[in-house]
Amino acid sequence: MTVNAVAAPPRPIPAARYRERLSAARDLVAERGLAALLVGVGADLRYLTGYEAMPLERLTMLVVPADGPVTLVVPRLELTPARACPAAGAGLVELLAWEETDDPVVHVGRLVRASTGRAAPAGAAAGEPIRVAVSDRLWASFLLRLQEVLPEARFGLGSAVLGQLRIVKDADEIALLRAAAHAADRVVAAIAGGRLIGRSEAEVSREVRERLLAEGHERAEFAIVASGPNSASPHHEASARVIEAGEPIVLDIGGTFGGYGSDITRTLWVTGADPVHRPYHEYLALFAVLRAAQAEATHAVRPGVPAERIDAVAREIIAAAGHGLHFIHRTGHGIGLEAHEEPYLVAGNGEPLREGMAFSVEPGIYLEGRFGARIEDIVVCTADGPDVLNQAPRDLFVVTGE
Ligand code: ZN
Ligand code: ZN
Ligand code: ZN
Repeated sequence: MTVNAVAAPPRPIPAARYRERLSAARDLVAERGLAALLVGVGADLRYLTGYEAMPLERLTMLVVPADGPVTLVVPRLELTPARACPAAGAGLVELLAWEETDDPVVHVGRLVRASTGRAAPAGAAAGEPIRVAVSDRLWASFLLRLQEVLPEARFGLGSAVLGQLRIVKDADEIALLRAAAHAADRVVAAIAGGRLIGRSEAEVSREVRERLLAEGHERAEFAIVASGPNSASPHHEASARVIEAGEPIVLDIGGTFGGYGSDITRTLWVTGADPVHRPYHEYLALFAVLRAAQAEATHAVRPGVPAERIDAVAREIIAAAGHGLHFIHRTGHGIGLEAHEEPYLVAGNGEPLREGMAFSVEPGIYLEGRFGARIEDIVVCTADGPDVLNQAPRDLFVVTGE
């Protein structure tokens, strides 16, 4: 197998977007009466600054105060990449480099207090606690130190501030999600058109990862190849099992493209040359139910519809066919800078869909020990309804695999 690089490189998020995001975050910090939002390494930091920092035991932290400049606190040895990030390049954040012998948390504490106008730690008697939000994925080791340095602060989750911003994608983000989806579509087509019989799941999975990279992904995060009875396990790890004629394969693949996720599932049936290995009736009937459930759930996407309604549409169709107990996961998850993020399409999530939300629609039916099937697309909610980013055909891919 030869994989040739063909993809155009991702178009990066323009600096103007970081300006908008930082100013929206700061407005929310002030509106919510917070002293500051503290953002550690990860998707929140990339969202606000474009800085893909290394996750280290050394603290990197963006301090977004209610008042005063936004400051990126970085270890001295990371100053060069920090300076090169889009937000720093556009002069949207000030850089504060800490030396190897400094305590960076003390710097952060000082910036937070500067924002509240307090010069020294306030005792219990000094009045109201200040409120600080920290990014949800901040390591406990940093948060516990922050709690020591800011005993007067009450800490809450940063998603209370950033969740409502990140959940709605702007045009540049949607363009990256679309390019990621199209790249993944091409990988599915290449795998479905190639040899499968006689190869192990792990071999095919390796080919998926190579192809995702060749299609311009900077990372291939997952490549589920679940053949035969393994197709009944939604998150099956690709194994040494060798693919045979006369069985299904659930292919669920994805990674990141310009920082944004791809995630597609298609189900294949491998026939080989002998017509005796065509898909049998029971499987085709199960797949037809799934196909209808995925189509109807996608069709139900529009602004104002509660997220849980999309799940219910898929589930009602699958349950009516007698497979309710075999649809063992939620219908979908948001996608963006993280592979799984808000909104989750699941019973109990009454949050109304909004224009610009991006998520998977991925019902599945799994008969343990026998076989399963799943169809997954990434869908953007628009004013006119669903914008389905993936374009690969959704029918069962009946392929010779030879
Ligand atoms: Zn998936
Ligand atoms: Zn998914
Ligand atoms: Zn069933």
